[in-house]
Amino acid sequence: MVDPDPSLAAHLRAEHPSFSFEFFPPKDDEGEEVLWRTISELEPLDPTFVSVTYGAGGTSQERTVRITARIAEQTQMRAVGHLTLVAQSKGEIESVLKHYAAAGIDHVLALRGDPKGGPRAVWEPTLDGMDHAIDLVELAGDLGGFCVGVAAFPEGHPDAESIQADADVLVAKANAGAEYAITQLFFRPSDYFSLVDRVQALGCDIPIIPGIMPILNFAQVARMAELSGADLPREVLDQIEPIADDKAAVRAKGIELATQLCRDLLADGAPGLHFITLNRSKATREIFETLQAEGRVRD
Ligand code: FAD
Repeated sequence: MVDPDPSLAAHLRAEHPSFSFEFFPPKDDEGEEVLWRTISELEPLDPTFVSVTYGAGGTSQERTVRITARIAEQTQMRAVGHLTLVAQSKGEIESVLKHYAAAGIDHVLALRGDPKGGPRAVWEPTLDGMDHAIDLVELAGDLGGFCVGVAAFPEGHPDAESIQADADVLVAKANAGAEYAITQLFFRPSDYFSLVDRVQALGCDIPIIPGIMPILNFAQVARMAELSGADLPREVLDQIEPIADDKAAVRAKGIELATQLCRDLLADGAPGLHFITLNRSKATREIFETLQAEGRVRD
């Protein structure tokens, strides 16, 4: 089994904020070319880590493992592979973990995954499968050698009994061995800091990295927010709706709002920023460079 790289967990507890980028496995070769171009444009920023999401279908899952392995092998960046429980038996999930390990990937983001019918569909357990992300945290722990991260939800997961019960779940995942969490997209710093407060009140100090998704295309972000259960606050809508027909203006405002969100989060102690890139580099670079020029992230 591969040796764990303890430096990610250590880095997230260090003084300097981490910054990281999330990609998804493209469905065709053209998309993959775009992704590799994006990766080569973002690598010079020297991110703390990059991660690749895991889909519900067979080819997309293979692509995730292959792309994450290639990042680990051919770049200097720390690669985190996402892994979900959807439509797989425990044996199949264990085999993906072993593939990751064999490819030198010792960082995994352990997730339940969204139901096959979409994020708002009812979760159906798979025969011989696992039910909750915590089961995967434990499985990775049993295999050994992995640094495991998990998902967190500033506004609560849509299926959770209550926002407090959802914080209890995050603390249970930390107690089971998760070393850090990355949040769902959100737009209000107060939602993020309330989650941190709830978790800390339970005696848990797991680093919680905010997930950042700038509004570049209003319809797309509105749909993602709706699916994930994130609220698009009135104060954001009031700034976007009047310019909704002007793509360039929406993009500029989206970058301005995301940059301000990052400033607010870092100013009040968030341990880092995780950018959902949608496999493009330009917006992320623009935000990063502004924060760097202001001395908020390391040179
Ligand atoms: P869990 O921790 O299992 O929680 C799911 C629900 O069950 C929650 O409501 C929770 O409160 C409840 N729950 C958990 N444990 C218990 C318990 N023991 N008893 C009772 N209730 C419980 N999806 C993908 O398909 N692929 C990806 O690559 C992917 N990447 C993501 C990355 C990030 C940073 C985030 C935030 C989400 C990502 N997702 C991804 C989406 C995620 O899989 C879904 O939001 C999913 O619905 C919940 O996943 P989870 O890991 O939080 O599940």
